Amino acid sequence: MIVGTAVVTAKGAERWKQGHPWIYRSDVAEEPGKEPGIIRVTDRKGRFLGQALYSPKSEIRLRLLSRSDAPVDAAWWGERISAAASRRTGIEASAWRAVHAEGDSLPSLVVDRYGPWVVAQLLSAGLERSRDDVVAGIRAALAPDGILLRNDAGVRRHEGLPLDVVLAYGAVPETVEVEEAGVRYLAAPWSGQKTGAFLDQRENRALVARHTRPGGRALDLFTYHGSFALHLARPAALVVAVDQSAEALARGADNARLNGISNIAWREANAFDLLRELEQRKERFDTIVLDPPAFAKTKDTLPRAVAGYKEINLRAMRILTREGVLFTCSCSYHVSRDVFMAMLADAARDSGRRLQLVAVCGAAGDHPEIVNVPETGYLKGALLRAID
Ligand code: SAH
Repeated sequence: MIVGTAVVTAKGAERWKQGHPWIYRSDVAEEPGKEPGIIRVTDRKGRFLGQALYSPKSEIRLRLLSRSDAPVDAAWWGERISAAASRRTGIEASAWRAVHAEGDSLPSLVVDRYGPWVVAQLLSAGLERSRDDVVAGIRAALAPDGILLRNDAGVRRHEGLPLDVVLAYGAVPETVEVEEAGVRYLAAPWSGQKTGAFLDQRENRALVARHTRPGGRALDLFTYHGSFALHLARPAALVVAVDQSAEALARGADNARLNGISNIAWREANAFDLLRELEQRKERFDTIVLDPPAFAKTKDTLPRAVAGYKEINLRAMRILTREGVLFTCSCSYHVSRDVFMAMLADAARDSGRRLQLVAVCGAAGDHPEIVNVPETGYLKGALLRAID
């Protein structure tokens, strides 16, 4: 149902022309009213530009849904979700992202599959109004046994929306066993990070596993539930998996048992302190993974965040064996790829090591970025090898 019409400035119209789905508050000349929902959008001459999700309280006022005036109903959502899901092919895992919001032209909608279940997120006020149609669309496209809405993501605050977790259809269990390239782990749809697991690192886990030295020593810092550690444990002789959360480590140990893996040492520690200690003790590792939480939550904290990334990367570089590999990444949206690569170069210079760039990494292919919409990219990483 259309709840009104918005008129946008020439600058606003130009954004859509250039393929960016967002129009900000300052480029809306006439607001459609106070109700969020799906609206018609025209330019100042009254020319129809498309239909959008309208968020009356957010700086991002309009998100382009469709350039046509055909109704955006349950059938429309079903077709779009189905098209996004069918772009995903050859994924070697039972949990994967079927819809990556703006990255799939379905702004503010995330749909993740965990086997027969779906965990979705409705991240804008306009979308929230279409909840019934979206849920019907997910059912039509993916035929799940249950749909859980993890609507507890902080970004909903900018939209004036409540944070909650609701079952929208069927039933969804507390834990789901996921299989990923021969490794099994438990995801927690109701309470785990994001929609229950970090699906975006799936391809990077496989990449690091391929570069892990057989019979060597591996270190997985910021391990959470051990998802990298589990993949490293097969080739490596020993994996030290580190997190400051004892609860996260306990889940990691459960995951290891599930796979019959017994060569992971779970260590509760602050990664910064531990790296300093390992360096002082002259310990060496053949494979190191650095997957920290977002250090830069806002633009203002960027310099401090970059200093933090540099510190852990520098120390990790120093404790790599010759020919050892380091997988390092940042999921801070405010740390651009350029800033990240410059930080690595800086750390490499100070480390005195020569580090080869083996691969430039991002989020897995089921979390696509749009080239002309930089906001769709947040995860950047690199695989480095110390060659002297
Ligand atoms: N590598 C994980 C995801 C990491 S999430 C995966 O692929 O699934 C970030 C983790 O870092 C959280 O579990 C958090 O408890 C931990 N953490 C945050 N700050 C830390 C610190 N200073 N030292 C050790 N662990 C930390």
